[in-house]
Amino acid sequence: MITEEPIFVGLRKTLVNELRKNGIEDENVLSAIGTVPRQLFADKSYARKVYSMEQPIPIAAGQTLSQPYTVAIQSSLLQINKGDKVLEIGTGSGYQAAVLCQMGAEVYSIERQEVLYKSTSRLLQKLGYAIHTFYGDGYKGLVEHAPFDKIIITCGAPNIPVALLQQLKVGGMMVIPLGEIEQTMNTVLRQTEVDFEKKEYGKFRFVPMLKDCSEAEK
Ligand code: SAH
Repeated sequence: MITEEPIFVGLRKTLVNELRKNGIEDENVLSAIGTVPRQLFADKSYARKVYSMEQPIPIAAGQTLSQPYTVAIQSSLLQINKGDKVLEIGTGSGYQAAVLCQMGAEVYSIERQEVLYKSTSRLLQKLGYAIHTFYGDGYKGLVEHAPFDKIIITCGAPNIPVALLQQLKVGGMMVIPLGEIEQTMNTVLRQTEVDFEKKEYGKFRFVPMLKDCSEAEK
């Protein structure tokens, strides 16, 4: 059982109303964001700030916890069904993974920063989210656990990693922010073994998707 001050229940309600006003319609997404205690995924000093819709929050290793609006958009575009097997690239704070888990997905998440992988794995376990976390290079995905119904990339990717496309089920959906400095949100629907339909959404800003874990701690 997670204990928190009552003020956070109110902050989440306000955030959900704001997301609704800004076009987020998926009730499963809104309900998960209204439930997951976001303040526990960042340093205590950001406890209230984390509920601002457009506020990214610094976390360890120079990374960021995406703003609620971005989490809401990516979670909506994934069109999650209960029981979906989802691969996330960029565990970071664990908040996005927790939202997907709360929505009923079975989440596999990869992080290339070892410090984050360790601290976030511990946190998710402590909070009771049964999420499979991995330390490694997201460009490679998780061949041994593929295929996935959905794949979400939570860092800015220079291109669509081919290994990840191959790990998507036919009928499956990938949500990926593409671009170096600024990113365009994209969905990629795998229509057949060889056909992929790509669609573009708005502009966003993410930390970069980087290669090679051995460089991560420098
Ligand atoms: N989903 C996270 C967002 C964290 S920011 C959250 O809810 O907090 C993006 C994360 O992607 C960072 O932690 C960064 O270290 C990680 N990342 C960047 N490149 C990666 C790669 N190639 N493989 C796995 N993780 C990567």
